[in-house]
Amino acid sequence: MRIDIMTIFPDMMNAYLSESIIGRAIKAEKLEVHCHNIRDYTTDKHNRTDDMPYGGGNGMIMTAQPIDDCFSAIVTKTGKKPYFIYMSPQGKTLTQKKAIELSKMDNIAILCGHYEGVDQRVLDKLCDEEISIGDYVLTGGELPALVLTDAVARMLDGVLSSEECFTDESHFGGLLEYPQYTRPAVWQGRSVPDVLISGHHKNIEKYKKEQSLLNTLKKRPEMLKNAELSKNDVEFIEKNRNFDEI
Ligand code: SAM
Repeated sequence: MRIDIMTIFPDMMNAYLSESIIGRAIKAEKLEVHCHNIRDYTTDKHNRTDDMPYGGGNGMIMTAQPIDDCFSAIVTKTGKKPYFIYMSPQGKTLTQKKAIELSKMDNIAILCGHYEGVDQRVLDKLCDEEISIGDYVLTGGELPALVLTDAVARMLDGVLSSEECFTDESHFGGLLEYPQYTRPAVWQGRSVPDVLISGHHKNIEKYKKEQSLLNTLKKRPEMLKNAELSKNDVEFIEKNRNFDEI
């Protein structure tokens, strides 16, 4: 998969993209991420990429021309039009389901806005989807673009060490994950649950499933309405739920 990120702050992105799991995935060519400096495409004689809003109002607006030309250069490079995503607090909130859906695409391009946003006309021309990372406003789209890139990248084949790394995790199957422990078995008088060191795989699996249900019931009970649950799961929830919570 290839991800092209359009930004006026490419250096902000590179530090994150070169480290840890994403950095290794890029080095191993499981994923290509290219950051493009929108400023390189401006035709403004002062090298500007923003201007004042028509109709007045606060702040500056990113101009259409450099974004359009930056995207055209990406289309030329990739040989096809990537799916164009604008990171925006006005978009639909990013979910695990959306990350999985996007990870099946060959090419996506992500536009990071800044200041008060982007001239609507270039979005009308190019944008396929607006995605938000939550109902709050950040100063720019760079962190949201990295959040999206990370969420998508870890769904790609071979990026994580095994599929269970993400199929077991919170949100994949509509539940939160069970609590996790590592060595030592006793830390400051607190022990790891006995079952986890019993070596009894069936009991361990049962324990993990029940803890996952309890975690979801306790922290995000509304998720249970859409989770895929077996008859046993439903019975377990009924036995454990506080009826005021759901
Ligand atoms: N004036 C815009 C509004 O009210 O909708 C907000 C602009 S914001 C200050 C600047 C840029 O940050 C946006 O263009 C967008 O790219 C990015 N951004 C801010 N919050 C975001 C969020 N929650 N999700 C995704 N992108 C966000």
